[in-house]
Amino acid sequence: MEKGKVFVALDVDSRTEALTIVTELKGLGAGWKIGKQLFTQEGPSLVKDIVALGEDVFLDLKYHDIPNTVAMAGLAAAKLGVKMFNVHAAGGRKMMAETRKELDKLTDRPLCLAVTVLTSLAEEDLREIGYNANPAQQVARFAKLAEGSGMDGVVASPLEIEIIRSVTKPSFKILTPGIRPAGGSKDDQKRIATPASAIAAGADYLVIGRPITQATDRKKAFLDILEEIKHG
Ligand code: C5P
Repeated sequence: MEKGKVFVALDVDSRTEALTIVTELKGLGAGWKIGKQLFTQEGPSLVKDIVALGEDVFLDLKYHDIPNTVAMAGLAAAKLGVKMFNVHAAGGRKMMAETRKELDKLTDRPLCLAVTVLTSLAEEDLREIGYNANPAQQVARFAKLAEGSGMDGVVASPLEIEIIRSVTKPSFKILTPGIRPAGGSKDDQKRIATPASAIAAGADYLVIGRPITQATDRKKAFLDILEEIKHG
């Protein structure tokens, strides 16, 4: 998938709402992020239907379980035809390596990204669950572990790109949410970057939800973001 690809977060409750958005933006090069909310409501058939339209899907289910379970879930995701899915780096080396080993048996495999530290966790939350590092140190540690365990990249806040790039190879992918076009509403996002600045900082893929899905003219909102990325 090309650098700079924008995945639109389909954070809606129903198949109808999701397909309305996909139909409006179909063919413009967007990818689609399907997460726990929509997947739990509508299940794998919606994923297959969006894939059947020729669209790229990122299945954001953040698997975290014993190695065999995650590896088999990864294979199931691959069978749906998604281009990318993710796991928690906190599941450890064996979980990630076994998942990669299974994916490597496929002729056309999806990318597998690792979630490092959830951006909702502050230093005191990490201490409470037993991590003895600040979030940035822990992100770097997980990114290195994920790379060494065969993951294709990580999901990270735009503000963490630099530290991740400092410990991983340039080919290691970084996908960032928390993106807001210049001058737009922040919604509940706090630590944000504009599309152009996230790409300039080294992000490969962006996840953008409400600035597109809640716009009155979604197509214009999406195309404006592509323009902003192109021209910086
Ligand atoms: O609407 P918005 O652009 O804020 O949507 C961003 C998407 O990325 C949501 O699906 C959100 O759950 C997800 N996300 C995030 N921040 C993270 C991880 C995921 O906003 N740290």
